[in-house]
Amino acid sequence: MLELSTCPQLSLLSNTNPEYIEIENHIRNTMSLVKIIAIIKIHLPKEPKNWSKKITQRVYHGTRAKCDPNDILEYGICCSDEFCGMCGILNYGNKSKFSKRGKNMWFSKSASIANSFSFNLNLPQDYLRTIFVIDVLNVSDNDTDIIIINHDNATLQRFLILYEF
Ligand SMILES: [Zn+2]
Repeated sequence: MLELSTCPQLSLLSNTNPEYIEIENHIRNTMSLVKIIAIIKIHLPKEPKNWSKKITQRVYHGTRAKCDPNDILEYGICCSDEFCGMCGILNYGNKSKFSKRGKNMWFSKSASIANSFSFNLNLPQDYLRTIFVIDVLNVSDNDTDIIIINHDNATLQRFLILYEF
């Protein structure tokens, strides 16, 4: 397991790791042609109190990187640009103040919906795309694909997926 250094504690999952396989299989349900470059596990300094006892749901959040995601893979380096969604969520999790949709943060049960938020025409075309796997709290059981949350402490960042087509 490769340890990545200067971002919060991150580790690159091998493609035979059960967590990698589970995430990859789920992504391929809605994005069969995706080329996964890396799945990075985010080790939080400490879990929020009692989080493990609460009802959580695993969802996706597509975001955009201002820096080159390859720098994380190659050097373990995060940028400090406050508008870099990738490094911001890696370091601090989802924050409603950075939402482009009022105070609401959008999450999706489907990777393909999250994918439409990870694309930015203004960035270099060879940048990898970025989707996070996030655990969210207190989600009512319903059939909608989109989950909207406006509390910062109701989400935990678990994995970063770097991919391309
Ligand atoms: Zn960055």
